[in-house]
Amino acid sequence: MGYPLELKCVLCGKTFKLEEVKYTCPFCGQDGTLDVLYDYDEVAQSFSRERLKKDSSPSLWRYAPLLPVINSEHIPSLSVGWTPLYMSKKVAETYGVSAVFIKDDGRNPTGSLKDRASAVGVAKALDFGYTTIACASTGNAASSLSGFAAVSGLPSFIFVPEKAPEAKITQLLVYGATVVLVEGDYSDAFDLAAAAIDRYGWYNRSCAINPYLVEGKKTCALEIAEQLGWQVPDRIFISVGDGCCIGGLYKGFWDLLNIGFIDRIPKIVGVQAEHAAPIYEAFKAGSERVLFGPVQTVADSISVGAPKNWAKALRAVRKSNGDMVVVSDEEILSAIPELARSTGVFGEPAGAAAFAGFRKMAMAGMLESSESVAVVVTGNGLKDISNARKAAGAPLSAPPDIDAFEEILNAHL
Ligand SMILES: *Cc1c(COP(=O)(O)O)cnc(C)c1O
Ligand SMILES: [Zn+2]
Repeated sequence: MGYPLELKCVLCGKTFKLEEVKYTCPFCGQDGTLDVLYDYDEVAQSFSRERLKKDSSPSLWRYAPLLPVINSEHIPSLSVGWTPLYMSKKVAETYGVSAVFIKDDGRNPTGSLKDRASAVGVAKALDFGYTTIACASTGNAASSLSGFAAVSGLPSFIFVPEKAPEAKITQLLVYGATVVLVEGDYSDAFDLAAAAIDRYGWYNRSCAINPYLVEGKKTCALEIAEQLGWQVPDRIFISVGDGCCIGGLYKGFWDLLNIGFIDRIPKIVGVQAEHAAPIYEAFKAGSERVLFGPVQTVADSISVGAPKNWAKALRAVRKSNGDMVVVSDEEILSAIPELARSTGVFGEPAGAAAFAGFRKMAMAGMLESSESVAVVVTGNGLKDISNARKAAGAPLSAPPDIDAFEEILNAHL
């Protein structure tokens, strides 16, 4: 299995032995999220691009040497990762870039990129001998955790804001999690979950503080690199809420650079919603801190006013020479049908937001015609049909009569 070696604080740079610290840096507190570092020599010995080429397993566990799971018996049986990466000539032509690739992470078993983190989280809970796992979530981390906990036989406790979309709450209940709808927003859910986890000794699956979870998310970057024959795109767009997904992308490319599988890290562009953009604001201000405040957006998965993993998010953008961009709710909603009609990929609002960010930068002339671009669609469109309906247009209505239908059809065309 994997060769994790130590944990390193993203803020102060101190390193810790794996058994020394469970979640965040003891010196920097909650803001000091940790990176998992590996024995990269060991990894390089047991792992190669040639070996991967021969590996036909269509899941993220093909990267096991670069993952923190110790015991292979703890890997949940639900398949995760190895989602399609589509090349879209049409989108590339429309927006004047050399190539566009769409990573369809809504194809994961519970419908979002979060499954990558939950798979690793559940395995780590078992590695450490926990018997219960819990998290707070805007929705997808929760539905994902409940699915992976279910197949592994771990009871799960989930705290979500009371306004989470119906589809996500339904997933939780179907998978058999104990679901707590918390009065308030994601921050309130997060705080109550943290208190309960502390009181009852559960394992905390929150990507925002648990260093192993981001390791799951990084596999999205590993796959994109491998699917492109280790020629990474010039730029990559992903939406940002807490900052774990974008932090994971950067960590994935960084690890690959470390073992010599790639020769550069793509420019990573974080996309936030116009009225839920604390990380964007901090980036544009050149600030070392992120200011928290109330937020409002149709994209529930990135409706985060107090991002927990802001340090990893800012690092991803700055170190990769990337950028941040904001998109309005209208731009997010209009991106849903455009993405679906041009590529076949139906994303939830936060998934389509990344495409909206790409489109906005392209239309503003901020992309080179020679560059290749990847867009990560982080969640499936069926997660939130009520917002998709707002942008999808109306159906025709007809009586069961062919002549009447023809009249309606002619009026429509
Ligand atoms: C969680 C999530 C995001 C944002 O990820 P963060 O790690 O919170 O920044 C984006 N899109 C979807 C679909 C998500 O579920
Ligand atoms: Zn620290």
